[in-house]
Amino acid sequence: MCIQSGELVTILGVKEKMKNKFFKSLRFRILLLLVVFGIVPCTILKSTILNNYMEKMVFVRTAEIQNQCTILSNQFKSYNYLIDAKSEVVNAELTQLSNIYNGRILVINDEFRIVKDTYELEEGKTVVSEDVLKCYQGKGTIYHDQKNHYAEVTIPVKDGKKVVGVILMSVSTDAILNNQAEVETKATIIVITIALIILLLSFVLSALMVRPFARITKSIEDVNEGYDSDNLHEDAYTETTLISDAFNKMLGRLKIVDDSRQEFVSNVSHELKTPLTSMKVLADSLLAQEDVPVELYQEFMGDIAEEIERENKIINDLLSLVKMDKTTMNLTVQSENINELVERILKRLRPIAAQRNIELVFESFRPVTAEVDEVKLTLALSNLVENAIKYNKDDGWVHVSLNADHKYFYVKVADSGIGIAKEDTEHIFERFYRVDKSHSREIGGTGLGLAITRNAIVMHRGAVKVYSEEGEGTTFTVRVPLTYIV
Ligand code: ADP
Repeated sequence: MCIQSGELVTILGVKEKMKNKFFKSLRFRILLLLVVFGIVPCTILKSTILNNYMEKMVFVRTAEIQNQCTILSNQFKSYNYLIDAKSEVVNAELTQLSNIYNGRILVINDEFRIVKDTYELEEGKTVVSEDVLKCYQGKGTIYHDQKNHYAEVTIPVKDGKKVVGVILMSVSTDAILNNQAEVETKATIIVITIALIILLLSFVLSALMVRPFARITKSIEDVNEGYDSDNLHEDAYTETTLISDAFNKMLGRLKIVDDSRQEFVSNVSHELKTPLTSMKVLADSLLAQEDVPVELYQEFMGDIAEEIERENKIINDLLSLVKMDKTTMNLTVQSENINELVERILKRLRPIAAQRNIELVFESFRPVTAEVDEVKLTLALSNLVENAIKYNKDDGWVHVSLNADHKYFYVKVADSGIGIAKEDTEHIFERFYRVDKSHSREIGGTGLGLAITRNAIVMHRGAVKVYSEEGEGTTFTVRVPLTYIV
């Protein structure tokens, strides 16, 4: 099979991506952590133990030498060895000692002269080394030269309390080093075995540890692909429980949104169809009759015009709602005089209230200026005042008041109207919800007014609430921040 160069580039690209994906994965990081925290301490432990071993072995060896030399030095006096180093007994012991430890022994008298060298090279010469000088002060020294593999030990030779000479012995540490190398090989084998076990365990453990996340991903993908998946329950870790809970909440919300979208679509089609059906019935009945009197034509055409007007209103309200949904992020906010804004709304609605002799009163507690979108706030408040007039009794009243504190301004619209039953108050802000469908329809309602109002107020980061007593009247309160919070 032959691979084209283009295909090769694609295959390489996919491989590269997979590699990147693996290195970025949680599994790789867990693996890395386990490996690092498993293998690195082992290696550190190994080298520390080996170093300590070396130090300890040198210490033991030199301590042994010091002991042996001290015992030997006790014989020096009786053989007058520091003056005349000819004693065969001492010489034999010195040779034996240097052979045992594979070293060289120098015996130095109080004039710093070498009286005995087991290598017989430096006898008669003078030594003034730092260690020898220190030793004359009464204390033996140990010097370990790691680089050149030897250790040097000095032992004071005493006559009573006085130091009369020094034994200087240098020994090779090669034997210790050989031992250490042996131990090191064994330790390395153990460390490599442990590392392999850790690597294997990490591989398996990391796969097991990320498995709950894979299950979560699978469930989310199932939802994405449209399976009607159940709630997610992944309680392996606290984190997965939290993710599951958040996911279930989101799923719940999605379902609600989906249900309400479907309900909205069916409501919209129903609402748009109703005036059309009426128009069709009216037109059909005119067409079905011959010689229809002009009065009947006029009456039916008037009804058709009313239905067209209604259809128009529904479409306009729907457009307002859709527009608000779309432009949540870009309100055209500017500083507005709210007193004037409310006055303008009331001025426009006063003639409608007057038709039914409804008193429309505005009470302002203080001048209020706030950062609002004038068009949307006007629409929101107009709907409330219009409703207060629409669902009022003849000769009733509507009281609108405006107040503010340092953070918010408050508009209250109270009426003496028909009121709303308790079970209906929680639904009246839903799209197309009407307490009394036929009554609302009669007075030209679309069921969208309060949905528009709530949307507009929420866009201003405000809140709207309703208090009502059936048969007594209704009060809507609106709270909006004085400065717009982005
Ligand atoms: P509509 O176009 O039907 O008025 P809204 O969304 O404005 O739609 O109001 C929803 C429903 O809430 C109305 O149908 C009405 O039953 C009820 N409602 C709203 N405002 C008032 C009020 N001030 N008094 C009594 N009922 C009201």
